[in-house]
Amino acid sequence: KKLANAFKSFGLRESDRVGTLAWNGYRHLEIYYATSSSGLVCHTINPRLHPDQVSYIVNHAKDQVLCIDLNILPLVEKASKNFEAVKAIIIMTDNKNMVQTNIKDDIEIICYEDFINDHSDQFDWPLLDEKTASSLCYTSGTTGNPKGVLYSHRSTVLHAYGMNLKDVVPYGVKDVVLPVVPMFHVNAWGTPYAAPMCGTKIVFPGAKLDGENLTNLMNDEKVTISLGVPTIWLLLLNYLRDSGKKIDTVKRLIIGGSSCPRTLFEGFEDEFGAEVIHAWGMTEMSPLGTVNMPSLGEEPKDRTEYYDQKLPQGRTIFGHQMKLVDDDGNDLPEDGITQGRLLSRGFWVLKEYFEDSSEKDRFLDDGWFDTGDVAKIDQNGFMTITDRTKDIIKSGGEWISSIDLENICVGHPEVANAAVISVPHEKWEERPIVIVQPMPGKSPVKEEILEMYNGRVSKWMIPDDVIFTDNIPLGATGKILKNKLRDQFGGHKIS
Ligand code: ADP
Repeated sequence: KKLANAFKSFGLRESDRVGTLAWNGYRHLEIYYATSSSGLVCHTINPRLHPDQVSYIVNHAKDQVLCIDLNILPLVEKASKNFEAVKAIIIMTDNKNMVQTNIKDDIEIICYEDFINDHSDQFDWPLLDEKTASSLCYTSGTTGNPKGVLYSHRSTVLHAYGMNLKDVVPYGVKDVVLPVVPMFHVNAWGTPYAAPMCGTKIVFPGAKLDGENLTNLMNDEKVTISLGVPTIWLLLLNYLRDSGKKIDTVKRLIIGGSSCPRTLFEGFEDEFGAEVIHAWGMTEMSPLGTVNMPSLGEEPKDRTEYYDQKLPQGRTIFGHQMKLVDDDGNDLPEDGITQGRLLSRGFWVLKEYFEDSSEKDRFLDDGWFDTGDVAKIDQNGFMTITDRTKDIIKSGGEWISSIDLENICVGHPEVANAAVISVPHEKWEERPIVIVQPMPGKSPVKEEILEMYNGRVSKWMIPDDVIFTDNIPLGATGKILKNKLRDQFGGHKIS
């Protein structure tokens, strides 16, 4: 309430944008509520972006105030040279930790605690129309400029209700949640809204997301549920194995953002008693679309089938719909075999990008949005992502799922990460190759890796070659940058 008063007396008015460049911390949560609940728009920005992308996003959104964590200052100093509408930068610290900056003089630099200190802790929250904008998040966009997704109070609240349906995430008064997924990445997948709604304690990890820090926080705070992308969980799993530590209070790990390999499901549940739940979504849909939770009548006959069932990204949640179409827009069958373009629509799916018409063709009739994912859906409604449209491999006219091939490869104990791309082929048009980043100090053998595919995919889908690299490049949200790999290895000649 003090912060809402401070923004108001600074001169901000309804629908003005307040940008944040911050890790998961309590001040960030204060900003979420002080902005949106007073009619301002909370615009979260990814601090892992390049300074030019940050200034593009800040200018496109016309942010007037930026709130930044202390250790993000160097990035902001670089980006700020091109800021157009920013009047003030609030550094999220107290007076005794305040620092000097070299940001241009026409931008006021303010200490967060000083900014709020003298303000009243009473604030009359306005009654806002449900369609009022509440927050804004830009997708990292592997091609073209980042695109803004503007969320309304309506979509945010409905999405939070959706998360709290019994078999989706849900939070409860006895839960303690550790959102590892950043608050700058699709609002930490909705947790800052859905958890307080249920009186759930939130534990903020700050900037340090290494295995040791996460393990200590989980144990000290008795965390019961946590959410994040597979790369983070892989690090945690390896740390737990190496250190011999446990995370006994943790019962559920929600994993999404990219496909979750089988080894993660098995490792966390068999060795550490934490059930891994697979979910799929996008910035464009707040983000939750599906969650994998088998129902009555779908009980697995053994552990192998149990883990088989966990691999798909899951069934749609109430409030969201999806379907498959071919390239001409014709509906495709949900038979568990046919792959097609995945369309999505619902209460929390966007209708257009924020003041950007460059991808208009993704917004189709009747509210359908083309996700850019390729998927199959089975008779029981379980959806499996097989690729991004732009990553699909077409060999001899047949599609090969790069995700399936990657997930098998990361099951090798000496493989840290793997990416499958296509290379041109005279006869088959395209053939898959797998690019492997070994675990530190390990040297996995090509033949052993290829052997892993035998019996697990059809022979013609097995990659034609393995290339080793020290570093598979990851984007700002932890996803593999396949376009970079294609630039680097797309001309590879199969030996
Ligand atoms: P960004 O493009 O900003 O990284 P998003 O986080 O919005 O954005 O990414 C959404 C995309 O991430 C989806 O369209 C899909 O391709 C991929 N994705 C999300 N969850 C999963 C999942 N569980 N399995 C496979 N892919 C996923």
